[in-house]
Amino acid sequence: MPELPEVETVRRSLDPFVVGRSVNRVILDTPSVWCGAGPDAIAGLTVTRSARRGKYLLFFLAPTHAAGTAYWLVVHLRMTGRLTLQDAPEPARKHTHVRIELDGETMPPIWLIFQDTRRFGRFSLYPAQSADQLPAALPRLGPEPLEPSFGAELLARQLSGHSRLNLKAALLNQAIVAGIGNIYADEILFASRLSPQRLAGSLDDAETARLADAVRSVLLRAVDLCGTTLKDYVDGWNRKGSFQHCLMVYGRSGQPCRRCSLAVQKKKLAGRSTHWCPACQPGLPD
Ligand SMILES: [Zn+2]
Repeated sequence: MPELPEVETVRRSLDPFVVGRSVNRVILDTPSVWCGAGPDAIAGLTVTRSARRGKYLLFFLAPTHAAGTAYWLVVHLRMTGRLTLQDAPEPARKHTHVRIELDGETMPPIWLIFQDTRRFGRFSLYPAQSADQLPAALPRLGPEPLEPSFGAELLARQLSGHSRLNLKAALLNQAIVAGIGNIYADEILFASRLSPQRLAGSLDDAETARLADAVRSVLLRAVDLCGTTLKDYVDGWNRKGSFQHCLMVYGRSGQPCRRCSLAVQKKKLAGRSTHWCPACQPGLPD
């Protein structure tokens, strides 16, 4: 948490309010959350684009002079990070780590505030060539599942080198498909009627097509519903998501499957709590 739908929702909620504004100042309350170039480098620069790659949220900062340096500010919210906007400056609080004042020429300033109780979230600042080219420093990420090019053929190719990986581990691997975490991996496998214990190399063409369809449909629906709020997650204006009301298996162990009424099972797989229905998602015996 947050996964692709939550990060995309945060991006969409911030974009209209931050793009076009320039950075007045950055107050770094917790230096350890900031990596790369120092925060002073972006003072005076203008946010000209927001983007998302997997679970990373990116802002392109353009200089006012052609000779100046442009930057990508890359934010990873990790477990409990929140990036929200406020009209008034937020006083320094225990879990507030970064405060960025954004100016608008004809608008009052606005504050972009980063809070994180677990403190795993990170801001990274990289000099940039152009707004069309994402920073090379991002880790190797697989295809974006919401791009039109994503489908059964591409997923089969991505899975081909990982035939001994179970499906839960394969979906969590950001180099195979970008953006999926624990909640959506379980929901995608339920929607595709595939056991999380099945090996990636055991899928036939029809099963791979079902999995690719489920990756897209579950993530698209979750984006439409502004993500899943179980505890911490909110968008850029402190609004909760509503996909938590649509969860079929995640967090429902012992409760009846919404499709067949058999109890939803839970066990550790790929090091993560994994939820599935053994009747709807038949797999190999343990
Ligand atoms: Zn079921």
